[in-house]
Amino acid sequence: MSCACCNTTTKKTRMSCPACGQNCFPVSRQTILHQVLFPENQAIDEGGYAFCANSECNVGYFSESCSISKTRLRAFQSGQQAMLCHCFDISESVYRAALTDGTAQAMKAFVVKQTKDKLCACESRNPSGRCCLIDFSREEKRSDHR
Ligand SMILES: [Zn+2]
Repeated sequence: MSCACCNTTTKKTRMSCPACGQNCFPVSRQTILHQVLFPENQAIDEGGYAFCANSECNVGYFSESCSISKTRLRAFQSGQQAMLCHCFDISESVYRAALTDGTAQAMKAFVVKQTKDKLCACESRNPSGRCCLIDFSREEKRSDHR
């Protein structure tokens, strides 16, 4: 499964996070501008940034010369739970519960349909800038191994 928003970033080279060393996907300028809160969003330079997806790591975005903490990102504001689909507001815990009670398929089908109709907004809403369907599959694999 792929959509316009993921195809733009996957071909570029990965960068390693200066804090945790994880291999990170680069993000587009659109993603970072819509995720970083004021006033840091005004200081983003033209350089290439990547997103650190490690939830234990404080670094949100980083470039060769600077890094922006996850706490300064829209999607990580205090109190918000881990999100699977930022476009349609489905959290990891909601989907995990759905995988056990049999409602997961319909939930995912909704997201797949919107994605096919190009109504998703991953590039602006998802801090990774990537299509969230990858994350749905990751949760499914996790529950299979239980
Ligand atoms: Zn990191």
